[in-house]
Amino acid sequence: MTRQKQRIDELRRSNTLPGEELLALLAEATPESDEYLFAQARTVREAVYGKAVYMRGLIEFTNYCKNDCFYCGIRRSAKSTQRYRLTEEQILDCCDTGHALGFRTFVLQGGEDGFYTDERIVSIVSGIKERYPDCAVTLSIGERERESYEAFYKAGADRYLLRHETADEEHYRQLHPSELSLTHRKQCLADLKDIGFQVGCGFMVGSPGQKPEHLVKDLQFISELQPHMVGIGPFVPHHDTPFAKETQGGLELTLRLLAIIRLMHPHVLLPATTALGTIDPRGREKGILAGANVVMPNLSPRDVRKKYMLYDNKICTGDEAAECVRCLEKRIASTGYELVCDRGDYR
Ligand code: SAH
Repeated sequence: MTRQKQRIDELRRSNTLPGEELLALLAEATPESDEYLFAQARTVREAVYGKAVYMRGLIEFTNYCKNDCFYCGIRRSAKSTQRYRLTEEQILDCCDTGHALGFRTFVLQGGEDGFYTDERIVSIVSGIKERYPDCAVTLSIGERERESYEAFYKAGADRYLLRHETADEEHYRQLHPSELSLTHRKQCLADLKDIGFQVGCGFMVGSPGQKPEHLVKDLQFISELQPHMVGIGPFVPHHDTPFAKETQGGLELTLRLLAIIRLMHPHVLLPATTALGTIDPRGREKGILAGANVVMPNLSPRDVRKKYMLYDNKICTGDEAAECVRCLEKRIASTGYELVCDRGDYR
């Protein structure tokens, strides 16, 4: 414990550790050292963001995807997935519902769907910003060229989420078909940041083939990029993918990584993800208590929710948005933190 405590104190003091120390921090974790780690993470997050937990309304507007990522339930080869697209009007309806419920950030997420040309995305983004100038718009629609990202930014998009998935080349190859490359994904993140977006990267915890060394590389990549947001959650298998029979990511490891990321990046916006809530009934609450400060309830229309199944057993697919907010409000309150209505920009 003494060595672990020293590592955690050093991480909190300097926001960094040598690779081999990060590796040891992960390898030598005990329930006791975790408790100390989470407490440090909470102190650091409270110094920057107080007790506030920000909410983002997630609008899953298309599950068509041209990519074939081995882990993902909406990959193009997932034949059992019933495909859908929302119209611009339906998306705006989701925002109306969300705004009335207090949401001040809308996240448009989808597969890489060519139907949504740059023009269509620009029109959707500017439509939302026109109706709700007090709200932030976040895009999470995968890899496009720099010119497209520039057009989205000009249309008023504020933030962009693009998980890097793994910072190790070889591991990236184990998770993706050969037409996708880590180099291009990293280039996208660099472009997005350069254009002026608040950017988010991130990875799955416990994805097939992942080794502790890969996680250290992920942490180091995050420190190089210095993103505003980091999305991490456990890998959860989906029955209609090549990874159907793989084991899901672990709760403790995910929580440990959330806390480490908080200590390395005191200001980062860090969600307690739906995947975390899926592998443990109190997963999101535990995430908040390990240093997370964002939740992303679903604003998608109820009739499409079950079709946006990135992984099996995804939670909250049967609830109305209002129920989700009420339920989350209680869950967050039970941790001693507070769900707030705020754009929740990076500080
Ligand atoms: N097409 C967009 C959005 C992807 S879905 C993009 O490429 O960025 C958002 C995230 O869900 C992915 O980045 C991935 O990290 C996560 N995800 C996909 N399949 C998953 C699974 N089986 N288990 C856990 N997370 C998964």
